[in-house]
Order: sequence, then structure tokens, then C-alpha cells
Amino acid sequence: MSITIQNVSKTFGTFKALQNINLKVASGSLTALLGPSGSGKTTLLRIVAGLESVDEESGGEIHFDGSAVTANPVNQRQVGFVFQHYALFRHMTVFENIAFGLKVKPRKERLSKEEIKDRVFELLKLIQLEQLADRFPSQLSGGQRQRVALARALAVQPKVLLLDEPFGALDAQVRTELRRWLRHLHDTIHVTSLFVTHDQEEALEVADSIVVMNKGEIEQVGAPNEVFQNPATEFVMKFLGDVNVFHGRIHDDRGVFTDEHKGGDENVRLLVRPHDLDIRLSPGEGVSLPAKVYRVLIIGPLVKVELLNSQNQLIQVQISHETYQMTPVKADQQVYLVPKSSRVYGDGAVDYAI
Ligand code: ADP
Ligand code: MG
Repeated sequence: MSITIQNVSKTFGTFKALQNINLKVASGSLTALLGPSGSGKTTLLRIVAGLESVDEESGGEIHFDGSAVTANPVNQRQVGFVFQHYALFRHMTVFENIAFGLKVKPRKERLSKEEIKDRVFELLKLIQLEQLADRFPSQLSGGQRQRVALARALAVQPKVLLLDEPFGALDAQVRTELRRWLRHLHDTIHVTSLFVTHDQEEALEVADSIVVMNKGEIEQVGAPNEVFQNPATEFVMKFLGDVNVFHGRIHDDRGVFTDEHKGGDENVRLLVRPHDLDIRLSPGEGVSLPAKVYRVLIIGPLVKVELLNSQNQLIQVQISHETYQMTPVKADQQVYLVPKSSRVYGDGAVDYAI
């Protein structure tokens, strides 16, 4: 089931939570809505679900497989939900929680008791919790509860699955396990899913496609690799990872570091990711930016070096442990940074890259 979002705007009072959103979610995909808190992710998800209406004057529409569902209330859209906060029924067992949506169907649509039992056990198998059918939610870990919430959402065979920060309340290790698990589950069932997260790593790891949102607007849509390697805006580049900002100028239609070329026309900012800087002990040919090592953090196979330039601006560099062993720098040491790649953004869009 594909989802098309067309010219959707949403205003709360005078506040524009969404501004003219246009998006196509491919059938069977797992798409992440990624953005900082308050960027409109939940509002967009609620509009897709039919829990929130679009601004009438915007003429916005939601289509499922090409048919408008804009006027359909939530109970006619066949969507499944999983929220951050466990919404399991506390007085019901795992089995009863998953069976709930099937049992409350109108009599003529309802499956027999046996069929419901089979469906629930099929889902328990899918979420790998067959042994826990008789437990109550309070007897489960946070991760197990979210798996049950997912099974409950899937029980009624929704056309679309909507997940709003489903792992947001869990600790880091469980989150990582569950995102792998969700990816695997999605590869098994292929239900079109929209997954809201403010965690860029989660989006990059789980999704087929990432929609980066900022202040009620879409900044970029693309495959994880695409948005990471070719961020369309400065906002996307900064949101998807650490970035160093250097002063520069435009010279010969190219962004150059001020240290490299003092002339040139327009002042610009050159954005460089920490892993796109090499550390040298002496100034070499081409661009090499002097800096002093502030501190060195060794984090397993990665080494993060923090440095200060002549303006006392903090610069972050990330190198492999192997590279660090070949050039082991230490605090207060004078070094030279060689940028391997940088980007310049003009009025929001990428203009130059080296
Ligand atoms: P996100 O999920 O990305 O954190 P939301 O979609 O929840 O963002 O909210 C986007 C903006 O809209 C926020 O500034 C929020 O305060 C505002 N907002 C959301 N729902 C309402 C509401 N029902 N009434 C007023 N403002 C709202
Ligand atoms: Mg939200």
C-alpha cells in the first residue's frame, strides 16, 4: 500500500506545525521520518492515520494506493500504531493483548476462537515471544513490551504500520537490538511502515528511505547513504552527524579555506565532517590548517581528537585506532589538519563541494 501526502499543511492556532508537505511512501517500504523534537513528525503521522485533520484551506490530501482517504476517520483507514509509551492493557495477558483487536471486530467479520488463537500464536512466533503468552505486561522487559505492542498492531493486518519513536523509552543496547529486529521483521512481512525517530543513527540503520524534517518542512528525502553522503542542506548535514565549520571564500567557483587563499570574493562557511580531516605533524603541500591538540579520546576502534585553532574554535577529528597508532598525537601538540572533503551551502542548498 503506497502512501501519498499532497500539499498537506497543519496549523494549531497561529502556529504552522506543517507547511505544504509533499511525500510519496513506496509500497512495502520502511520509511523514517527523522527530525528534531517539534519538527512535525508526530503531527504528520497522526494526519496519515486520520487522528488529525489537514488544514482545509490548504486543499491537502492523503492517498492510500492512489485513493483519497483524507475524509476517512481513523477506524476506516486500517492503520496499525505503535507509540513510544507502552499502551498495552495491564490487566490482560500478552495473548489477550494481541488478540484484542481481533475479538472486538463486528461479529460478521470476526474470526472463530480457534482462528484467533492461531493468528495470535503466529504473531507470537514472529516476535519470538511464544513462551510468554500468559504473562502480564508488568512481567515483561521494556523491549518485550514493545514487541507485543507491535504484534498487537499487526494482528488486524493493517495496510499501513505507523511507529512513533517506538524504542524511545528504552536503553541504548535494547534500542540497538530492537532496531535490527524491526528491520528483520519488516523484511519478513513487508507492510508499508512509517517510522518516526529523532535519532539519526536509528534512521540510518533501519530505514529504506529517510525523510528529514525541520520546522514543519521536508529538507530532504533519500536513501540513508544518499542523505548522509550528499546532504541537500546545511541543516541535513549537521543533523546527520558532527560537522566542523571553517571560514572560507569562493575562489574560481570553488570553496577554499581562508588559510589557503586570502583573496577571493565572498565569505563562506566550509563544512567538514570529523572523519574528513587528516592530522599531519608538519604543514604539507596544499591546505593544512594549524591547530593544537586539546584532548584525545580513545573509544574502542575509533579515536576522537579535539583540537583548537588559532581562534580557539573547537575542531573535532575522527581517525581509526590504526591511524592513531602511526601518528600518536597528544594534548598541547601543534599539528596541521588536511581536509579531504568539504561542502559549502548557499541559500540553503549545496553550492560547492571539494
Ligand atoms: P515532533 O513529533 O517532531 O516532535 P510534533 O508533530 O509533535 O513534533 O509537534 C510539532 C509542533 O506542533 C510542536 O511545536 C508542537 O508543540 C505543536 N503541536 C503539536 N500538536 C499540537 C496541538 N494539538 N496543539 C498545539 N500545538 C501542537
Ligand atoms: Mg513526536
